[in-house]
Amino acid sequence: MRVLFASSEIFPYAKSGGLSDISAAFMKSLAGDVELFGVMPMYSFVEKRGMKKERSFQFTFTSTTHEVEIYSKTKGSLQYYFIQSPIITSRENMYGDAEGDYEDNAFRFALFSAAIVALAKELKVDILHLNDWHTALAPLFLKEQKSEIKTVFTIHNLAYQGIFEAENLARIGIDEKKYFHPECLEFYKRANFLKAGIALGDAITTVSPSYANEIRSEQYGFGLEGFLEHHKEKLVGILNGIDTEEFNPAKDKALALRYDSNKLEVKHQNKKEFLRQHGLKDPRKPLFVMVSRLVEQKGVELLLETLPQLLEMRINLFILGEGVLEYEKRFEAMAQEYENFTFQRAYDEKLSRQVYSAADFLLMPSLFEPCGLNQFIAMRYGAVPLVHNVGGLHDSVHEDDSLGCGSGFVFDNFCAEEFLACIERALAAKKQSKKFKEMVQKNMDCDFSFTSSAKEYLRLYESLL
Ligand code: ADP
Repeated sequence: MRVLFASSEIFPYAKSGGLSDISAAFMKSLAGDVELFGVMPMYSFVEKRGMKKERSFQFTFTSTTHEVEIYSKTKGSLQYYFIQSPIITSRENMYGDAEGDYEDNAFRFALFSAAIVALAKELKVDILHLNDWHTALAPLFLKEQKSEIKTVFTIHNLAYQGIFEAENLARIGIDEKKYFHPECLEFYKRANFLKAGIALGDAITTVSPSYANEIRSEQYGFGLEGFLEHHKEKLVGILNGIDTEEFNPAKDKALALRYDSNKLEVKHQNKKEFLRQHGLKDPRKPLFVMVSRLVEQKGVELLLETLPQLLEMRINLFILGEGVLEYEKRFEAMAQEYENFTFQRAYDEKLSRQVYSAADFLLMPSLFEPCGLNQFIAMRYGAVPLVHNVGGLHDSVHEDDSLGCGSGFVFDNFCAEEFLACIERALAAKKQSKKFKEMVQKNMDCDFSFTSSAKEYLRLYESLL
């Protein structure tokens, strides 16, 4: 079976969040079972060394002709393709800058989707696996070209749908009579790319079983709950995993000292050094951390609301993240006020590994969470997750450790009282050092790899052929 996996970001070439990690883990895990190719845009910052120019295409959308070049790179047994076009490459970042999203994103990612389809046909793949709205027009282009290639469309986060003014469709050359209606692209008079992927994909997946249920409710459906309910027969939730070779505290080059579940004293040394470097005192205090985009989804408002009480407890807190300016400013102000809190406004892959390795607890009070990866990475590095009982967090972290893999602390209702009570339970558990150590060790030895998810995807592909 030949499969082309298309994503707007694949680690290590581009990363803004979990999609990039998952794409890489997915490619690695499935490579042995199918003939697998990956494709992503060639952003301006992607390192071109070792790449080969394969060929060029021309796409004429309405009156303008666009040159697209396809580059390839082989990494081990994996073959990656990169779509280069001035409209993609001339932008500095992937999606936007301090001013907001790029105004030509509809066109940039429509062109990317058209190029994916051309590549899929040339590679003669059986399955085209698409991810999120950036690739969601591909099933529409395939349909227009009467292609037999089957599509799997994965929704990683329903909060991002790719909604644009309807005028863009004419520019992209999409037949509005055929596709701009509520059963396909139309969403309150605007064009919603994600809807096209849902309507025209042969199978729809999302990244955890709980999220697959939640998105059919008003609370988590972002206006698409009815539409998803209508397509529920082809919707399935498959829990993500992580690349356990990439995220491995025994081999991680970002760490000064490496360790496994039998060498937790080394983790403690990392913690001591980390606290020293980041201006925090007393390694006997439990270290809580957060590594996150600072947006409402990640529960930042709840954290800010409870921060004064939290910082009066006998803990240290370290937050690594960037995002909404207002949140950053408030964290900066609090960090000035409390000596047990350090805020690092950055996106820093290496530092993130050091944070996980130093931490006793990871805070993940997400308002909603399609799957989440931080909790898996934290458990692998021996930090116990403390999570809101929602989406993929519900499927991967359990306060009742008799449930097997994934032990942590969980609160049900998204409110200050329950969040703080959960932290109190975590602190009480930490005092029972023998039991707590067992919990940490068990988490570190759990299999959070993508292997079992990959098997489910394989079964899904087979069911489509
Ligand atoms: P998202 O909704 O952002 O995709 P996920 O939990 O799925 O959330 O994935 C987040 C990924 O991005 C994890 O690998 C996490 O460690 C990483 N990450 C988030 N913020 C930062 C940051 N400021 N610096 C480094 N890595 C980060």
